[in-house]
Amino acid sequence: MNIFDLVRKNIASLQPYSCARDEFKGEASVYLDANENPYNAPYNRYPDPLQWEVKNAISKVKGVNAENIFLGNGSDEPIDLLYRVFCEPRVDNVVAIEPTYGMYKVSANINDIEYRKVLLHDDFNFSADEMLAASDENTKIMWLCSPNNPTGNRLDRNEVIKLITTFKGIVVLDEAYIDFSSEESLTKNMAEFPNLVILQTFSKAWGSAAIRLGMAFASTDIILLLNKIKYPYNVNILTQKQALAALHNKNQVDEWIKTLLSERVYLIDKLRELKIIKHIYPTDANFVLVRVEDANALYQYLVSQSIIVRNRNSVSLCYGCIRITVGTREENDTLIEHLKQF
Ligand SMILES: *Cc1c(COP(=O)(O)O)cnc(C)c1O
Repeated sequence: MNIFDLVRKNIASLQPYSCARDEFKGEASVYLDANENPYNAPYNRYPDPLQWEVKNAISKVKGVNAENIFLGNGSDEPIDLLYRVFCEPRVDNVVAIEPTYGMYKVSANINDIEYRKVLLHDDFNFSADEMLAASDENTKIMWLCSPNNPTGNRLDRNEVIKLITTFKGIVVLDEAYIDFSSEESLTKNMAEFPNLVILQTFSKAWGSAAIRLGMAFASTDIILLLNKIKYPYNVNILTQKQALAALHNKNQVDEWIKTLLSERVYLIDKLRELKIIKHIYPTDANFVLVRVEDANALYQYLVSQSIIVRNRNSVSLCYGCIRITVGTREENDTLIEHLKQF
């Protein structure tokens, strides 16, 4: 399978912008090439357009080669760029599990790409055959998310691999919540799958949603294409510095994950004691989806008590459901106390 056969013609023939920092790489003593202000170091200089220092640090933590990493302004950026590389507006289409993370559809709409939904089963798992049946010769991308948002479950690994190996296009596997899952990341097997893109993020387990840093792991062909069309300096120096600080303090992240996993057990135990909770779905993420009698009423009540959860009542298969993020012990207890009074 040749990834370049899937690329839009205008992107294939595109002459990308060549910035000053692309043209000269390496160390010099006098930089007079980029019209920067010579004062106010270090913020006066354009940052590394390919963020190699950050990628090398991520490479050590994730066991993925730096050449197989793309960094963007949140996961939102690679999601959008994948459409722009592979999907011809008003011609191509994508297939996604449903329900799932909302950005895949919004980004499809912005790019004028048909978005086809394949409903998950009652147990929130999916079938590769059903995804393939929904596709045609213009299907360029399949969207999977595991553990899935908002359902919380991980997808069956064999079905994921079946889809990647059968589909003759790009398969995106969003692993935003992988650090909370009992299953290992598919990054370990990436080399076998040239059409696979794995998304991860600094926004969840890494506790850094504010710095906006998303990661895409893929074959060098795909990384080359994403780099070809991204904004030249898409990740700013403040984000790069903060990401390096987080990467050098990975023990803290591991601590948070351990704490949140035990808080997840605590929260679920407390929820189980409540009569208003009709069902608690199994979760591999840092949130839990629960079904209640009247999700809208419960949501409004909690808002009035200054507690915000996510109302998923109008999402496919999630009628009557509320999504609750695992918080600190104090936050979880506050939620439970108010739920008791509803
Ligand atoms: C939260 C979340 C993300 C993170 O997006 P960022 O743009 O990196 O903050 C990505 N995918 C899913 C499924 C999420 O729930």
